[in-house]
Amino acid sequence: MAFLGLLWVAGTPMIDDRLLPAWEALIAVRGREGAPIGEQYGERAAQNVSVILAGKLPPGVAASWVGELGWIVVADRLLGEDPKVIAAYLVHELAHAEQDRGASERPDSGY
Ligand SMILES: [Zn+2]
Repeated sequence: MAFLGLLWVAGTPMIDDRLLPAWEALIAVRGREGAPIGEQYGERAAQNVSVILAGKLPPGVAASWVGELGWIVVADRLLGEDPKVIAAYLVHELAHAEQDRGASERPDSGY
C-alpha cells in the first residue's frame, strides 16, 4: 500500500489549461511562517480529485464539487478573475472532496 500512496502523492489531477494560473497560485500559497501550505493542498488534491475544469455553472455558483466523478468545476465566467480568487474557490471545493473521501471510509455516517 505504501507504493500506491507514493503514486497518489506524485500524481496531479488533470487540470484545464485555463485554470493553470489558479492552480499555480494555489500551490504557491505559504503560511505565516513560510510553511508550504499550497503544496499540501496539491498533494491532497492528487489523492481526492481526478479532474479540475472550467465549465458552465448556474448563476450564483462559482465552483462545484462533483463527487461521483471526482471533478471540481469552476464557473467559466470566473476565468478573467485574479487567479488567487479562483484558487480560494479551489481550496473550498478541495475541502468538499476531502469530506467526501472521509464519508466513503465511514459508510454509516449518514450523510
Ligand atoms: Zn461548498
